[in-house]
Amino acid sequence: MRLFSTLLCLALSAIPLAAQTPGRTLLRPARVFDGAQLHTGWTVLVRGDRIEAAGPAARVGTPADARIIDLPGMTLLPGLIEAHSHLLLHPYNETSWDDQVLRESQALRVARATVHARSTLHAGITTIRDLGSEGAGYADVGIKQAIDQGIIPGPRMLVAGPAIVATGSYGPKASPDWHPPQGAEEADGHDDLIRVTRRQIGGGADWVKVYADYRWGPNGEARPTFTLEELKTIVEVARTSGRPTVAHASTPEGMRRAVLAGVETIEHGDGGTPEVWRLMRERRVALCPTLAAGDAILQYRGWKKGVEPEPERIRQKRASFAAARRAGVTICHGSDVGVFTHGEAARELELLVDYGMTPLEALRSATSVNARLLHWEERVGRVRPSLLADLIAVEGDPTRDISAVRRVRMVIKGGEVVRSP
Ligand SMILES: [Zn+2]
Repeated sequence: MRLFSTLLCLALSAIPLAAQTPGRTLLRPARVFDGAQLHTGWTVLVRGDRIEAAGPAARVGTPADARIIDLPGMTLLPGLIEAHSHLLLHPYNETSWDDQVLRESQALRVARATVHARSTLHAGITTIRDLGSEGAGYADVGIKQAIDQGIIPGPRMLVAGPAIVATGSYGPKASPDWHPPQGAEEADGHDDLIRVTRRQIGGGADWVKVYADYRWGPNGEARPTFTLEELKTIVEVARTSGRPTVAHASTPEGMRRAVLAGVETIEHGDGGTPEVWRLMRERRVALCPTLAAGDAILQYRGWKKGVEPEPERIRQKRASFAAARRAGVTICHGSDVGVFTHGEAARELELLVDYGMTPLEALRSATSVNARLLHWEERVGRVRPSLLADLIAVEGDPTRDISAVRRVRMVIKGGEVVRSP
């Protein structure tokens, strides 16, 4: 019976809504979060891969040709958008980052990543920005193609390829007598940075990712890597090709340089100061706080969450996150998943709320706000006519209890049911 229902699910998952019944599909949930507000009494009409109508049931009506899917007790919302993932990594408490980069073959990593792509989609994440293959070259570009061509299930992807680091700054570290393969591509200085940025763009990077600082200080502390001029070179080359730049940065000076150079989002941002937050607000640079990654890493190091008091680093992160919000910095939903298990989409949303956002604010970050930050607001992130029908249904009301996002019952991507209630 179990096998049969699995087969049935697989069979259903392969059929677009449009093909199951000629015409349209009417979704009738208890409530709809449209990417901005919660509505009761709404229905949503899907035709092909698009949303045709969304609004009060009486206004949308019940077209005679429509197949009806009732979702009692459930909230329908836009598919979630994860703006900082690593499909090619798996949790560091399984295998350290160094060992993943140095000892795992690209074939093994890609095989895992295809499983990660499916669990991501089934958890309700229908779009990801994957921020670096971490030593797996352009494997992210190939995975994105495999998803787009319908070969494997997975979310829509924006990818960064290898990403760019300053020579000597990144890892894995070894004896200084030899130089092991690195988790990102090294480049320095004007001409080299132009060439490497262009090569990554040519290789398929949708975003150019740069590490503006890293833990290479005299005492192993984070310090800036590239000069402001170098960062400006990368951003200018990327922008010329129509691509945005994103920076890993956690020191005030690394963040400041990245913002002044013109990056669009800052990843992590733990050490932001009032001056840096003000600058980010002025230049409309968003923060992806990656709360879930820090939360996971400290637990890997022995913190017994819920039993022991919060480590200093968590208390500092709470404070800097609150300061960024007070300064009016846009918060993006990006968790650094890969550090922890793919498919646990709820962790970052729960922490965003735990660290001070309302559930509604956190859900906006994961839908309409992220869609705008990723320049995809005309495609995804809202329940609105003409946008792609990327929709999920969760049990309960996530605007009251954010943990409802753990109870994903239905996932639709581009009008295709990939997980049924
Ligand atoms: Zn990352």
